[in-house]
Amino acid sequence: MTDNDLYGPGVMKYIKKAEKFLVQKEKHIARMKKLKFDTIAVHGLYTVEEALAQNQGAVIEPLYLSTSQAYRDSDEMEAALAYLIPTWCYTRIANPTTYYLEWVLALLEGYQTGHDTSCLVTASGMSAIMSAIDPFLVKQKEGAEKINFVSSVQLYGGAFQLFSVRKMQERGIQVRWVEHQEDIEEWKAKIDENTRFLYSEAPSNPQQSFCDVKALVELAHSWEIPFIIDSTCATPALMRPIAYGADIVIHSLTKSITSGGLAIGGALISRKPIATKIRNENPLFKQSFAEYVKFLPYRDTGPAASPPNALFALNDLRTLRSKMDVVSANSEKVAEFLNQHPKIYQVDYLGLDSFPLHTLAKKYMKLVDSDDGKGNEINRYGHLLSFRVNGPPQNARKVFDNLNLIFRATDLGRIKSVATIPAISTHQQQGEEAREKADIPPQLIRLCVGAENPDDIIADLDQALGSL
Ligand SMILES: *Cc1c(COP(=O)(O)O)cnc(C)c1O
Repeated sequence: MTDNDLYGPGVMKYIKKAEKFLVQKEKHIARMKKLKFDTIAVHGLYTVEEALAQNQGAVIEPLYLSTSQAYRDSDEMEAALAYLIPTWCYTRIANPTTYYLEWVLALLEGYQTGHDTSCLVTASGMSAIMSAIDPFLVKQKEGAEKINFVSSVQLYGGAFQLFSVRKMQERGIQVRWVEHQEDIEEWKAKIDENTRFLYSEAPSNPQQSFCDVKALVELAHSWEIPFIIDSTCATPALMRPIAYGADIVIHSLTKSITSGGLAIGGALISRKPIATKIRNENPLFKQSFAEYVKFLPYRDTGPAASPPNALFALNDLRTLRSKMDVVSANSEKVAEFLNQHPKIYQVDYLGLDSFPLHTLAKKYMKLVDSDDGKGNEINRYGHLLSFRVNGPPQNARKVFDNLNLIFRATDLGRIKSVATIPAISTHQQQGEEAREKADIPPQLIRLCVGAENPDDIIADLDQALGSL
């Protein structure tokens, strides 16, 4: 049966019209892909023509607060709700403002990777993680099935809770922890035929652990399963895992991407197609996973992004590359200061030569479109670091309490420098044993360096350490 038999001539007219629009859109995407990272970040898919034809010439993308979209007639409505024409319909399903953000992220994460990508923006980083993993944790056989997945143990506190409590304790899904995620042999030893995916967070928050992305992609693909990576701390300005074949990339948009700190958000970006053995009748599952999630599970579970938050993220994202350059350079300077301080026994920063995973990170963490003068990209390591204060935990608290300029908050990725003690904040809930496993002692202060002049940050740290 053809579409002509299924749908009346009115519906077909809308489908034909949409085909023309989609051809134009594909051409425009192809043009954008030829431009540089910064240009894509600044413009996305919003054009002068669109501004003039549909938006009174406004230079900035419009904010659509309407919950729902109206249709011309019943034919257009039928075509839209059957997903036969581009439509946004209802803000839980899609929204025009969020759409602009989704496309910028898809293009930036896919930038010069040689792969096509699609993106789904969600209400938070946590809902992006949930949306990414749940579709793989489904029954495939009759009877009891021992589903598992393999994950680095070094994770954002919320992700650790999601995996260990919501998935393992409450749902009986086995999570197999990898303690040294840089060690490919440990991953190999934990996979079997019931493993649904490999999951890593790199660089991890707060330990700065890292993985060999390329080796993990090859390992996952040899089992026909996807490699999912949370690269919130890197952002696409410093690393694009899809270049090495990663299947799904997660971001908490709340962090460095929206460094201005005015919005919560998350994103799931998938490579087209992903590796998976999961049988799903919808071809999008494999071909364009982010779109599959958007059209189906996301629609049914409801973790929709708020359009104003999407606009905040979009607006901050435009200068991502230059911001990540500045905050990374500042962090390097601050890390070097801390590293020689007599009251500190350990500094973890991927950019320090002395850091055990420095060489591995150096392979992957590079400022996009940069040049060191010899044709190589410049290494940049982001703005997350941590340091451990000599003596009992009270000493770390004293230093922390004496910070003046640096904010005490469980925040990160900001344009302003922010510090926290993870053992009593972000990683409090997971308990001492899990913290020990993840190497988060109470002496550890996490610092995320902002875009202030680094000398002022160093002076603040110096006087706080002087209180001991
Ligand atoms: C903050 C964070 C998350 C969760 O993001 P929210 O937007 O707070 O839900 C996930 N992963 C990493 C690495 C994070 O830092």
